[in-house]
Amino acid sequence: MAAPNNLEFDLATGRRGDRDSLVDGLLCELTGAEAATVVNNNAAAVLLLLAALAGGREVIVSRGELVEIGGAFRMPDVMQSAGARLVEVGTTNRTHPRDYEGAIGEHTALLMKVHTSNYRVQGFTSTVAEAQLAPIARAHGLPLATDLGSGALIDMAALGLPAEPTPRQMLADGCDLVTFSGDKLLGGPQAGLIVGRKALIERIKRHPMKRALRMSKLPLAALEATLRLYLRPERLVRDLPTLRLLTRPLAEIEATAQVVLPALRDALAPGYRVEVVALQGQIGSGSLPVERLPSSGLAIAPIEKKAAGRALDALCEALRALPVPVIGRIHEDRLLLDLRCLEQPADFLSQISLLRLPGKRGQLSNE
Ligand SMILES: *Cc1c(COP(=O)(O)O)cnc(C)c1O
Repeated sequence: MAAPNNLEFDLATGRRGDRDSLVDGLLCELTGAEAATVVNNNAAAVLLLLAALAGGREVIVSRGELVEIGGAFRMPDVMQSAGARLVEVGTTNRTHPRDYEGAIGEHTALLMKVHTSNYRVQGFTSTVAEAQLAPIARAHGLPLATDLGSGALIDMAALGLPAEPTPRQMLADGCDLVTFSGDKLLGGPQAGLIVGRKALIERIKRHPMKRALRMSKLPLAALEATLRLYLRPERLVRDLPTLRLLTRPLAEIEATAQVVLPALRDALAPGYRVEVVALQGQIGSGSLPVERLPSSGLAIAPIEKKAAGRALDALCEALRALPVPVIGRIHEDRLLLDLRCLEQPADFLSQISLLRLPGKRGQLSNE
């Protein structure tokens, strides 16, 4: 990152090289794919894939999978922006193989699956898994793409976390292309990764939009470094912060809460009561929408019930104004600070004396 480098320069031939070459080999090794390419984020990966393979033609997607990801990524709109025609099949809760088969026609370019990463359809439901859809796509000579969203590269269940499909599994199940994010469960920089069949990846890379969506040198360097961590699985959970924090033992989080408690109690007395509480954490960022991770942290409640709302707002504001801003969430008139990601209590303790609460003795408001 800090030094000159050979981005898009081929050292062997001395000519212009391929920007993706920093990471495409690593991605193939980690997913079992024939080829790979990368762009700025997964929204861009899906847009580019659709534009390159289905521009002016039809893409078949289940009505149960027309997702909206936070920040205006909506599958039907992305289709339209890419110049592809969306053909919806099935219903919100149930889609069957015959729905896809019945929709395939001379204008079909692609069958597409979309991972419902931020919601879950429960009850009387049925979906067609990639492994079931692949033979249908193949029989009609059509590619099958799946947008995984979060893109866990390893088996999350083996780490005691909720299971997520991996790109490797999706390719083994017969998908021709898989798209996923670099900065969700993978734990790297914002990036969109596309892996799959060589001929299809080549078409995607030749599309003019690839140039507009290409990654820049700094995130690309961070992506390379992150992917390299996956080559050493025995150290991965220690070296990759995302996985280290997601798998952090509950006892350790509780111990951190006990360490922070006395100092915060002193700093917030007499206006607030502070205690250690059990919490349920969400992974978030469009990953694992339903599951909760047991965690521990601090609950802060104003002593004076009358103006509790105002006292909590003032506390949140003071915490956000610290040199390292602290952001919690308010639930039932208490401010909750989940300490899963506070690895060094000193990072928090060292700035508690800088808290500026209105009306507290010896502080700004009394000067
Ligand atoms: C998160 C997500 C995206 C968008 O990925 P970004 O890297 O945030 O652009 C697309 N599709 C699915 C299914 C997602 O979960």
